[in-house]
Amino acid sequence: MRLVNTDAIVLRTYNLAESDRIVVCLTRSSGLVRGVAKGARRMKSRFGAALEPFTLVRLAFYEKENRELVSISTAEILKSNFEVNVQPEVAEVLAYMGELINEFAPPHEADEKMFRMLTACVDALASARGCERQITRYFEIWLLRLAGLFPDLRACAGCGLELNDAVPSSVDVELNSYCSDCRPQVPSNLSPQALKAVRATYQLSPVNFVKAHTLSDQEDLILSGLTHRLIARAIERLPRTLVASNR
Ligand SMILES: [Zn+2]
Repeated sequence: MRLVNTDAIVLRTYNLAESDRIVVCLTRSSGLVRGVAKGARRMKSRFGAALEPFTLVRLAFYEKENRELVSISTAEILKSNFEVNVQPEVAEVLAYMGELINEFAPPHEADEKMFRMLTACVDALASARGCERQITRYFEIWLLRLAGLFPDLRACAGCGLELNDAVPSSVDVELNSYCSDCRPQVPSNLSPQALKAVRATYQLSPVNFVKAHTLSDQEDLILSGLTHRLIARAIERLPRTLVASNR
């Protein structure tokens, strides 16, 4: 049995038996972790409000080899996102992010980039009100990028030539980029400005992204059409929370 101490963001909880809870969280050092929080449903639980969804916690748990469920020992609140999560439009986005992290994050395998990306998106939702849609696109692009499923905008998909602002390039409907020699037969209907916004997600934090770039309704529709298609292809269905929120 090994004791692990790590930062974690709580994704969701389920009731287990009379007084316990199953907690699903994304941890910094161990990736996606499911654990039992003994006594978490009691009135005077030692976990208090630490297991509310999207709370950033300092988590201590015991893991056993070949056992998927860990045993959660303590959870100490580092940052409560309770006030963010009670706003319906934000809660919908958080539920959607939680479902996708649950699908994409490797269990018991550290993915520091995914952990930082999720916490940055949750922070952005808390501070940039009214930007839920754009933060959702940012999240989807990064999630797909980290899974190696988002087209690489920095190299020609035809010949591998490195693309930068100095090289004229064009993209197809799946956002694969091409140099002028390999131009796609069916070009993307995403405007150059929207494409610039997509490229900007590579460089900027979500908070700075929403400050620096806006997507029109039309551009957002085209872009979300692509991200949702790529996500559905990866998990072989549409996310439940996407169908529910129609986002
Ligand atoms: Zn090329």
